[in-house]
Amino acid sequence: MSGCHGVAQFLTWVVLICQAGCCLLDSIGAAGSFRGIPVSNKSNLDQGYCERKRKTNSLSMWSLSSESLIDMLPVDTIPENSIRKVRDCIFSVAYPTPFISRVLLVAVSKDVLEGILDLDVSVKQTDDFLQLVSGGKVVLGSIPLTHRYGGHQFGSWAGQLGDGRAHLIGVYTNRYGERWELQLKGSGKTPYSRNGDGRAVLRSSVREFLCSEAMHYLGIPTSRAASLVVSNDDVWRDQFYNGSVKKERGAVVLRVAKSWFRIGSLEILAHSGELDLQRTLLDFVIQEHFPSVDMNDSNRYLDFFSKVVLETANLIALWMSVGFAHGVCNTDNFSLLSITIDYGPFGFMESYDPNFVPNTSDDERRYKIGNQANVGMFNLNKLLQALKPVLDHRQKHLAFQILEGYSEHYYSRFTELFRAKLGLLGESEDDNYLIAFLLKLMEDTKADFTMAFRQLSEITQDQLKELRVPQEFWALQDLAKHKFFSEWVTIYLLRLGRNMGDSDSTRRKRMTAVNPRYVLRNWMAESAVQKAKMNDFSEVHLLQEVLQHPFQRQAAAEKAGYSLRPPSWAKDLKVSCSS
Ligand code: AMP
Ligand code: MG
Repeated sequence: MSGCHGVAQFLTWVVLICQAGCCLLDSIGAAGSFRGIPVSNKSNLDQGYCERKRKTNSLSMWSLSSESLIDMLPVDTIPENSIRKVRDCIFSVAYPTPFISRVLLVAVSKDVLEGILDLDVSVKQTDDFLQLVSGGKVVLGSIPLTHRYGGHQFGSWAGQLGDGRAHLIGVYTNRYGERWELQLKGSGKTPYSRNGDGRAVLRSSVREFLCSEAMHYLGIPTSRAASLVVSNDDVWRDQFYNGSVKKERGAVVLRVAKSWFRIGSLEILAHSGELDLQRTLLDFVIQEHFPSVDMNDSNRYLDFFSKVVLETANLIALWMSVGFAHGVCNTDNFSLLSITIDYGPFGFMESYDPNFVPNTSDDERRYKIGNQANVGMFNLNKLLQALKPVLDHRQKHLAFQILEGYSEHYYSRFTELFRAKLGLLGESEDDNYLIAFLLKLMEDTKADFTMAFRQLSEITQDQLKELRVPQEFWALQDLAKHKFFSEWVTIYLLRLGRNMGDSDSTRRKRMTAVNPRYVLRNWMAESAVQKAKMNDFSEVHLLQEVLQHPFQRQAAAEKAGYSLRPPSWAKDLKVSCSS
């Protein structure tokens, strides 16, 4: 047994003791040890457990545990929270650093609290909740963990990265038996903080909170955000890397996901030759998150790889279908579960432009929207490199074939999604041409991607036939200026005519259900951030509400101008990696 396993087992033992009834919160600081944990004889399976599975507004009736992770995966033997190179483990124990100043709750996601965490939304009024979601206290019995991972950043191997400002505060098993990992982001330094301060500022936290929830409601696999708090603690940032360092406020988002493991989680183990540990992690991930892969099959790593390839292709096609550019598609930001994670300098493309780069720090335009599918391939290739030690000669060969199939998966999913965006039923061999033709018109006319598709969903076929584009359809009006617009319309109408058993109203209904009217445009997020900086969280709340129903026209959103041409002040808006 390695030293790491020894510690893991000790931790497990501590957790097991307190599993049964300790749902109280423990202050961080002097109590940030494993001492003082009450012992109870109550079993998780008794009546109390069932009670707890109903929605509660008291955290004393609620529990978290990191047992499912530390029981199976080794933990760092060095208990200190000091910045260093870590080996032979998956996690290091590290406690969040509480803010010194008063903390304000900016927003919560009712859906995450109630639907995932079995908490009644009124829990947000309690001090325990504020303490929990700001890193002021941890749930007794749950040992906070920080994950060791590496990654390829902008094409090059970057070595050890890890959770430099995030703490996995525990796993929650909800009433459906689902396990969700709760992670604070911006909660202080960890062994993986490198040169960072372990903090996140308000602007980036507002953006992550709003966007991860918005992506969920767009139907795109993503981490979720349960809450957002802001402090008065000073955090210094050079937002545009131009030497102008400014004081900002520290904020924390409580994020939840079924798993936070990334491609970089496996890469670091391959790079450091920790191959037994790599197998342990792989088996754990497969067992927990890939139920269709047979654990007893000698091809299980190959099956796992094939699923990640398929789901990554699916995810990137989904991003493209809503014009989402992640901004930093490094392998450490690519989830093994193929969910969208680590929201930073992301952006929704406005004028259609395959060269759209949301991140102004991305000088080489590596992560431009039109390159995301290629980058997906690059990242999967890095995953394959990391898996090589666990594959035999034949399996390696097959894995390369699987990787080669990525482009085909991507294009067929992309076509399927864009077919739906155009309201096409069935398949026709000219569909790709019709889609590409439209995108070319959009590119030439700089038409707004989101609204052009939305307005095609709202316009009638009669109006299109007569090329009568009403004034309010501003994006379509831009598109209609193209000399080949009428030609495209002719082909489109012919194709719609081949939809079996369709009517124009059902086509429009179908299309409005897949073409959002509202996405989190940069200017919308920026407007909410500017107000939030002055403790006016009204626009954060408005956007949260609106983006929960992105496909439905909403009076408040219309009033706020969310479906109009972006305001002129937004033209110069920039987002950088600084967060
Ligand atoms: P990102 O590209 O934001 O996902 O972060 C890349 C790496 O930098 C991760 O290992 C982060 O944990 C780390 N990192 C980013 N910002 C900070 C910070 N302020 N303090 C410590 N680590 C950070
Ligand atoms: Mg990251």
